[in-house]
Amino acid sequence: MRCGFSVSALVVSAGLVYGGPVSVDQGNDRETVPVYGCFGDEHGNLSGGIHEMEMDGEVLEFIEAMNRVNLGAVDNRVDLVFVGDGYTAGEMGQFHTDADGIINSLFAYEPFTSYEPYFRITKVEVVSNESGVDGDPSPGVMRDTALDMEYWCAGIERLLCVNVGKAYTAAAAAPDIDQVIAISNSSKYGGAGYASNNLGTAAGQNSAAADIAIHELGHSLGDLADEYTYGGPTTYTGGELSPWNVSILNQSEQVAQSRKWYRWMGASMAGFDGTVGGFEGGNYSVFGVYRPTNNSMMRGLGRPFNLVGAERLLRQIYREVNPIDDGTADGAMLERDDVAWVNPMQPLSHDLSVYWYVDGVIDAGLDGVLNVDIGSLGLNGDAHELRVVVIDETPWVRKPQIRDNFLTEERTFSIAALASCQADINGDGNLNFLDVSEFLSLFGDGDLSVDFVADGLLNFFDVSEFLALYGAGCP
Ligand SMILES: [Zn+2]
Repeated sequence: MRCGFSVSALVVSAGLVYGGPVSVDQGNDRETVPVYGCFGDEHGNLSGGIHEMEMDGEVLEFIEAMNRVNLGAVDNRVDLVFVGDGYTAGEMGQFHTDADGIINSLFAYEPFTSYEPYFRITKVEVVSNESGVDGDPSPGVMRDTALDMEYWCAGIERLLCVNVGKAYTAAAAAPDIDQVIAISNSSKYGGAGYASNNLGTAAGQNSAAADIAIHELGHSLGDLADEYTYGGPTTYTGGELSPWNVSILNQSEQVAQSRKWYRWMGASMAGFDGTVGGFEGGNYSVFGVYRPTNNSMMRGLGRPFNLVGAERLLRQIYREVNPIDDGTADGAMLERDDVAWVNPMQPLSHDLSVYWYVDGVIDAGLDGVLNVDIGSLGLNGDAHELRVVVIDETPWVRKPQIRDNFLTEERTFSIAALASCQADINGDGNLNFLDVSEFLSLFGDGDLSVDFVADGLLNFFDVSEFLALYGAGCP
């Protein structure tokens, strides 16, 4: 039993799934989307590649609209949503067992292990009329299921496709969606990665398929490229590649030009695959492309991610999760008897750093403190500014822009000036006969600084107002 992430189960009836906003009209514009099909051999070496699959334009618009809605979500977690296909009403126990198996595999790999509390898992129960999915074990085997999952997709035995629109409609029962994982009620090896749709598929009862699902998360969450060398031109001759973990530049060229993963050259850390350098071969070509490490999750099954991939994954995790999970609202106006507080996110491996600044100057005595009593700061009666900065200083990120833009959050608070005590005329902090004496002296001199009712005249009303304030005392 794993703890640390919250799991909620939701039941979606098949009717609700199909009654959603997606209507698949075959007459609509069809668009192609890249789908990864990466599979291991008996040694775990991956091969396969990207398949261009047709998808209904209306479905893509629906997914895009959902992602726009999700941009406004404030749950501060990466939401992984599991949906199942080919599970009948009586097989929901199997669905949960299968999903839990993949979840446990996922959190066995860094950086997911350490950042497990940053994830929220939702398992949406989707009921199918028949057990199992199409194409298991052989082509032509058809079953009536809720999400239309099928092997032999595009004629490839292990490519396990899903109706993306139906999967998203079912996943919409979750409070938020960042990634969808559709699992089939089958043990036949297979999977697929709809990277541009943040969706992956996996066979529910195949442990190698669970590893494939994690590899696909590297594609869809991390936008990482495959680091294996099969399937493309032997020698790559095109321009620089956009994924962070492949480059046309070798090690010395990266260092000379400060490009790609130059900050990581020579690095190795526990939990991650290999020592970083420039290894020729990757992105489906043997020559002309370089990868960061000899092997990794993006090249072979059951391997850890390498540090270059992990840095990118952390950036993507922090796109969804702010370092400050809760606390005093940014911009709050605080009084002297208030307490400013923060509740940082909490990786399992380390605490985030917490720094406090008073009027722009760090107060080192408050490093790591989560609750600051304003009254204990020893401030004078003027207005002041208090700022808290929370930073994840993990060594798994080296790019300063990622640290600054994603792993750092700050909030600034105003501390109100103390109300001035108007009757303390000599400003010594005490109300006593010296103030009365000073008042009478200034009044006698016709000094308008004691025009207490501010009418431009010195008369009985000012004396009366002064005595009233004097009687009320100072705060
Ligand atoms: Zn792949």
